[in-house]
Amino acid sequence: MEKRTKILATLGPASHSIETIEGLIKAGANMFRLNFSHGSHEYHLDTLNNIRTAMKNLNTTVGVLQDISGPKVRVGDLKEPFELLRGDEITFLKEEIVGYKKEDKKYVVSINYPDILDKVKIDEYIYLYDGTIRAKVIQIEGEVIARIENHGILSSKKGVNFPNTVIDINVITKKDEKDIAWGVENNVDYFAISFVQNGNDMKRARELLNGYKGKLIAKIEKFDAVENIDDIIEQSDGLMVARGDLGIEVPYYDVPTIQKMLIKKANNVGMPVITATQMLLSMTQNERATRAEISDVANAVLDGTDVVMLSEESAVGEDPINVVETMSNIISKTEDIYNFDKQSKLEYLDEFDVIQATVTKLADDLNAKGILALTSSGKSAIKMSRYRPKTPILTFTHKKKVLNSLTAVWGVQPIGTIKEAHASKMFQKMLVSLEQKGLLQKEGPYVATVGYPVGMPGSTNTIKILTESEIEYYLNFKGKK
Ligand code: PEP
Repeated sequence: MEKRTKILATLGPASHSIETIEGLIKAGANMFRLNFSHGSHEYHLDTLNNIRTAMKNLNTTVGVLQDISGPKVRVGDLKEPFELLRGDEITFLKEEIVGYKKEDKKYVVSINYPDILDKVKIDEYIYLYDGTIRAKVIQIEGEVIARIENHGILSSKKGVNFPNTVIDINVITKKDEKDIAWGVENNVDYFAISFVQNGNDMKRARELLNGYKGKLIAKIEKFDAVENIDDIIEQSDGLMVARGDLGIEVPYYDVPTIQKMLIKKANNVGMPVITATQMLLSMTQNERATRAEISDVANAVLDGTDVVMLSEESAVGEDPINVVETMSNIISKTEDIYNFDKQSKLEYLDEFDVIQATVTKLADDLNAKGILALTSSGKSAIKMSRYRPKTPILTFTHKKKVLNSLTAVWGVQPIGTIKEAHASKMFQKMLVSLEQKGLLQKEGPYVATVGYPVGMPGSTNTIKILTESEIEYYLNFKGKK
């Protein structure tokens, strides 16, 4: 089934073999996520090698996203799990201790980022166990004490959130630095940065790439990231609506509107956006998704997301291939009613946009089989995608790295690399490459765009309509130019 919205599948014990990865690609996965909250470098290298083997075996291009775990705030170890009741008090100490029950209804714990305790204020909330236990701060002098507002059982190392406090911590931990260096060494395509608070956090992440051209995705999962979104967009190559932690940091009823706002902003500036978490969660155990999950995927597609993500569904679920197939089917069907063709609805961002808007309109009006886009930096394919054409954007680049960096972009099919400098040869190579992959529809038409002469980023200046006879001509072209 043809689809334009991309699927990002997290790999894990249920899915990291070459055979399963090949099955996931055939079912519609366009990118794979290596979740660095779990697993050693050796484990991830093994998975990465399996992805690359699968890519080679299937002669296709998929992207690799390294999800950097970031500073997850947690309570320390506890002597035993606490059954917390409404009205109980919990004291947060700065020194590292094993948490204990002090007296009836009073408990003491420590957290792994104690400096945050200097920043909390009276009446702010502290959420324990990934948002399931709510506590309101009632004392900050000397020690921070919060009063529990609902029943829950807290055990060692459970997540802590401060949904009202600007905690202003370095979101790139020592472990993250080592993990990013691993990603650079192993040529991953995308780095997703967790718990981003503002644009500066993304700047710091970029510095750690040391000039490496991987794309930086800001995971929007903190309330202050939502407030600083324009600043974050300026410093990022893409966004992830990380609804898991976001749903703890902001009131639950705000998540859908924030999702729509983030997708709209990303679409407007032409940067890929990933919608993540619990999309088909029940399929971790079940063969079929719930109606609500099916609608959630469909609505994210209609919101304009570039990518939908699978987490535990594909990493540890019963049947990852079935999950990806389900997601593909939902996407394809939903795209039947997609709001394509935004040429007249979007402002041009620069002087090159007129070309991209015109190419996409021309291709759609001609009912073309594809736009053949040769792009040196990848920018012109991203710009075309911004106009959401019905026609697939069959993309060629000079460098493999650039081709891989387009796997997250809506409607863009990364086809191959071309080194030719002459226009006729370029058209020929593009058509031959499609033919070899079994993708060429010889009756056409195709609309081809190249920048000529080659090598000047942003210089797409040639638009060629390839009809059936021209396709035949270029396939048999013997000349030098
Ligand atoms: C999320 O919180 O939704 C998310 C994608 O991040 P993680 O899986 O790292 O919690």
